[in-house]
Amino acid sequence: MQGEFPKTYDPKGIEERLSEAWEKEGLFTPPRGDRAENYVIVIPPPNVTGKLTLGHVLDNELQDILVRFHSLQGKNALWVPGMDHAGIATQVVVEKKLAREGKKKEELGRDGFIEEVWRWAREHRAIIRRQHERLGFAADWSRERFTLDEGLVRAVRTVFKHLYDKGLIYRGLRIVNWCPRCHTAISNEETEYETEQGYLWYIKYPLEDGSGFITVATTRPETMLGDTAVAVHPEDEKYKALIGKYLTLPLMNRRIPVIADEVVEKDFGTGAVKVTPYHDASDFEIGERHKLAKIRVISDKGVMTEAAGAYSGKDRYAARKAIVADLESQGLLEKTEPYRLSAAKCSRCHTVIEPLLSEQWFAKMKTLAEPAIKAVRDGTIGFYPERWRNLYYHWMENIQDWCISRQLWWGHRIPVYTCKSCGKVFASIDEPMMCPGCSGKALEQDPDVLDTWFSSWLWPFSVMGWPEETDDFKRFYPTSTLVSGWDIIYLWVARMIMAGFEFTGQAPFNQVFFHVMIRDEKGRKMSKSLGNSPDPFDLIERYGADALRFGLLLITPKEQDVLYSEERIKVGRNFANKLWNSARLLDSLRDGDKAAIPDDPTPMEFWMLARLARTARDARELIEAHDLYSAAKMIYTFFWHEFCDWGLEFTKIAKKDARPISAALYVLKASLAMIHPYMPFITEELWERFGFGSSRLYKDSWPQLEDKYSAGDARVDALVEMVTAVRTMRAELGIAPDAKISVSINVGDDLYRFLQEHMKYLELAKIEKLERTKAKPHPSSGAVLPWGEIYLPLSELVSAGKLNLQAERTRLSKELEKLASEIESIKRKFENEEFLSNAPDEIVSRERERQDSYTKKAARLSELLEGLK
Ligand SMILES: [Zn+2]
Ligand SMILES: [Zn+2]
Repeated sequence: MQGEFPKTYDPKGIEERLSEAWEKEGLFTPPRGDRAENYVIVIPPPNVTGKLTLGHVLDNELQDILVRFHSLQGKNALWVPGMDHAGIATQVVVEKKLAREGKKKEELGRDGFIEEVWRWAREHRAIIRRQHERLGFAADWSRERFTLDEGLVRAVRTVFKHLYDKGLIYRGLRIVNWCPRCHTAISNEETEYETEQGYLWYIKYPLEDGSGFITVATTRPETMLGDTAVAVHPEDEKYKALIGKYLTLPLMNRRIPVIADEVVEKDFGTGAVKVTPYHDASDFEIGERHKLAKIRVISDKGVMTEAAGAYSGKDRYAARKAIVADLESQGLLEKTEPYRLSAAKCSRCHTVIEPLLSEQWFAKMKTLAEPAIKAVRDGTIGFYPERWRNLYYHWMENIQDWCISRQLWWGHRIPVYTCKSCGKVFASIDEPMMCPGCSGKALEQDPDVLDTWFSSWLWPFSVMGWPEETDDFKRFYPTSTLVSGWDIIYLWVARMIMAGFEFTGQAPFNQVFFHVMIRDEKGRKMSKSLGNSPDPFDLIERYGADALRFGLLLITPKEQDVLYSEERIKVGRNFANKLWNSARLLDSLRDGDKAAIPDDPTPMEFWMLARLARTARDARELIEAHDLYSAAKMIYTFFWHEFCDWGLEFTKIAKKDARPISAALYVLKASLAMIHPYMPFITEELWERFGFGSSRLYKDSWPQLEDKYSAGDARVDALVEMVTAVRTMRAELGIAPDAKISVSINVGDDLYRFLQEHMKYLELAKIEKLERTKAKPHPSSGAVLPWGEIYLPLSELVSAGKLNLQAERTRLSKELEKLASEIESIKRKFENEEFLSNAPDEIVSRERERQDSYTKKAARLSELLEGLK
């Protein structure tokens, strides 16, 4: 691209233009029949529920970095995008939308409601796709998939039938997590626990013979209406004599037995527990062992049923209140204690879960888990960081059957049919025309849908067209890396591994890269339902997509979850500006020079190339080890503090003697390639502007330099250190910025000769003259460096009026006094027992650091002051 080089960088115009251009060119669609090695990622499909959060941006950004990095390694990179129909989540948001319009889904009917959700899904798929493009993600949209599209429907039904016919899917009556708001069963993994302040109510159950009471404690008194026994431990001396007797259930006047069961803990609470088999998982098991009746007192909607007697028709919490009041007035409430409980809530709508007995479809997971555990153990699938393997093993080794049915309308309908003529129940991949048993035509399909994860767990191969043996499936499966937050290790990652082995006989990916989660200032995960994520598109508007990407990455070191701060996004913006401005400077110097390594590099050029070689090698290794954060910091430091701070300055000086700037242009070109995975837009723009390649930067290559550069050049290192030290001394002494100075050094012959020959570079510290000395001049300032000593003789500056020695001595003495009193006050703190025992660790260690740095500074000031005498 030609034209003037704009003075300031305008991310918006450039980013929008490039994302359109990439899309039009089909840049991210791998060529057909390329023989290069593949690198494939499938996106964790975002839910079609709404806009992206910062968490999504980070998750996708990491994938994009890997995809672009591997493309720069010469691989055939493919990133398959798509979205999740997200059964319950989407149904909830559409129900809420209807509610705002004063409508109910029942009024629309099942088909009408599904139509409505499809409309929502289509609209949001388009929005989410545009958002991904705006962020510069290198996804191949020609391969976009949706977890409810035709191919996925076929994959889901194939898998269901396979497991059903194998006897791994069954219908069972179990206590499930029921959400009374969403009106469906949900899996354990979809419930979240919140600590809440509740109560423990102690209720007296009278013995039938009038000889006394047994007291039970409960946090859910409304369930007592469904009690069918009270259980005690068989060895409990307190209750031993009462086993086999009967109690009168208060409020219901039902006769219930006192039974003995080993699971009751003698020392917990009163040692006696009420048993409600319909509404509690462990009570259900006690009930099965003792053949107790199961009485349902709470409905699907959280309302008390007919069986709840006088409380029938009341909401569960209203019933709770009434029951407690009635017990109290009857003198059957022994006491009420505040109690911190961990409340299970629906992760979608935050309604308190009601455990209840329900007939649902379950998948047996135990046999599926075995090869999946083995594959992680033997390294077939690598986990990064490795520590997540423990969580994975723990869950997989204790894996429970998976409740896969949901009482929803939006989702994959369960492909099980019942023949109305002969009663045969069967699963079918295609819509069946007749009963395979009696050829009857009257068939009824199960009304429920499958858990949304029942399609997501097939994602890595279903997006490639499985169960058909498509070209994509043969060419791009198994995939390379899965990028995921650790929070869905059970819900998704583990299940995909199991599905991969069961249905394709292979691991679905070679490695899993678990990244940290971004949290808000309160430490909460950013989520749509909490509404605590800053709008990423607002940040893009203000700072640009590149800045947002780079800034976000800088807050995510690999080990712990991080708190969001907008300051980091500004760091990203500043880096983009630095990149732009330095490129612009080189553009103004280039005079037709081409980016290339010169045949006869100067020591300065060699040094710059050596720094580049090391950065390119180390950053590549870090990215390969999935440490994208450290690689970014390394590239950033190289570009800003080695290339811009020194390389560019050397280049400007050499250019004055007509030295071509090819080496600097080469470093810029290589830097663009290294920064590209992180900041794709600005790097592509500059790449075009400089005409660095005939193709897009995305298809170019990661820099790799000859081995000879690995050694570097210690003489240039010494020059850099010397300029830095002299600049520091000038600042310490307040020497006028324009004052030229001379410097005395005590170094070896070679280095002295080198510095003499490269005097023009010492201009960077305004050094005019360089002398050799063995003795320290007076008055002077000085510094000791690994390769020798340098002195700044001061008498000339004094006589030229560039330095007032007396004023400088007074200033330094005052500064020393101030430091001494600071050091003294810190010392007093450390002598104070109270401070040491009460102050938090971080305060104590901060004080120690202050003490350290002040002491060092004081030593340096005394040295300076000594030199001025
Ligand atoms: Zn819910
Ligand atoms: Zn039949």
